[in-house]
Amino acid sequence: MHDHRKLGRELELFDTDPLIGAGLPYWLPDGAALRHTLEEYIRTAERLAGYRHVYSPVLGKRELYEISGHWSHYSDDMFPPMDLGGEQVVLRPSLCPHHAVIYRSRSHSYRELPLRMAELGGMYRSELSGVLGGLTRVRAIQLNDAHIFCTLDQVADEARAALDMIRRAYEALGIRPARFRLSLPGPGGKYVAAPEMWQRSTALLTGVLDASGLPYEAVEGEAAFYGPKIDVQVADPAGRESTLSTIQADFHQPEQFDLHYIGADGAKHRPVMVHRSIIGSVERAVAHLVEQHGGAFPGWLSPTQVVILPVSDAELPDAEDLARRCTALGLRAEVSGRERGSLGARIREARLVPYQAVLGAAEAAGDLVALRLRDGRRLGPQPAGEALARIGALVAAHSTTLWDEAAGV
Ligand SMILES: [Zn+2]
Repeated sequence: MHDHRKLGRELELFDTDPLIGAGLPYWLPDGAALRHTLEEYIRTAERLAGYRHVYSPVLGKRELYEISGHWSHYSDDMFPPMDLGGEQVVLRPSLCPHHAVIYRSRSHSYRELPLRMAELGGMYRSELSGVLGGLTRVRAIQLNDAHIFCTLDQVADEARAALDMIRRAYEALGIRPARFRLSLPGPGGKYVAAPEMWQRSTALLTGVLDASGLPYEAVEGEAAFYGPKIDVQVADPAGRESTLSTIQADFHQPEQFDLHYIGADGAKHRPVMVHRSIIGSVERAVAHLVEQHGGAFPGWLSPTQVVILPVSDAELPDAEDLARRCTALGLRAEVSGRERGSLGARIREARLVPYQAVLGAAEAAGDLVALRLRDGRRLGPQPAGEALARIGALVAAHSTTLWDEAAGV
């Protein structure tokens, strides 16, 4: 069984230091490469799906969260406010209030809806130090977040499209959902009191789930304080479940922030806010990917995609040249030379790298590479340019396949 904390350290993806503090991991270069690739995948998928990205600050005035309702429903999870010359500012517990304010800063016509606003942004949670560990319980979170401001009629289509994005992302990432959950409110006062609103949003999300044909369970006590959610659950190797992706229909915050759009009738109307996250927090997503794949990530996601192994020092200049050609094609490559041991030892060391290019005298002379794939397949010497182009195409397609036999070897 893979523990992402142990493996993350062994693979040199991330680590923590008591001087920085518990629950505040830092990312090493290989982890940063993986994270950057994941973030770029998400940003591109969002751009293609009609989202526009914004940036907003990780701090906000206390009043912002009083209006959003976080202050009264969620303050146990928030950092205490900082006093700045009589003004109180807080590390944000979510991005929603900022996005609501950004929406409100301009007037909007019904023709602009659905308006899809996305951000991969920082947020903070005041987890107790006893429960912190690895990337799953952290105090600083990078959230893949988006808010769709739309009419009531558009909610179902937007939620359905978000569900499709989630399923496509899981396929590219090699993640299997453990189950789909309709998260409903439970007893207790942590939910905003507006029965009609809860009923409407629950009916909308239930409709989306029913139409999707996916099996799902309704679970009480798991809703956001402002509305019900569709949650996509994943399980760790020990079977412990957590929420990775979520889709929510929110009537509460548009009301609180007095959001509106001008309808075809020239009058002001209230939009609905659909909150959705494809991979949840980058931290939790990477923790899950590490555990799911045991470090053998899909090729497009691997911190090092191609390792080049010169058989002797004589091939070192050619190996370095090949690495430069990989880099120029957008691939992450490194040369593992003789100083790192025998060829066998270097191949073992690179066992998680999807493509291992062995470069002997014959390959170097003919501009060929003999590829070994991570799954054990060995391909005969082939023109280096063609091999790199094929790897590049698989990476660009976010494929989980290492080599497309059908394309001919
Ligand atoms: Zn939100």
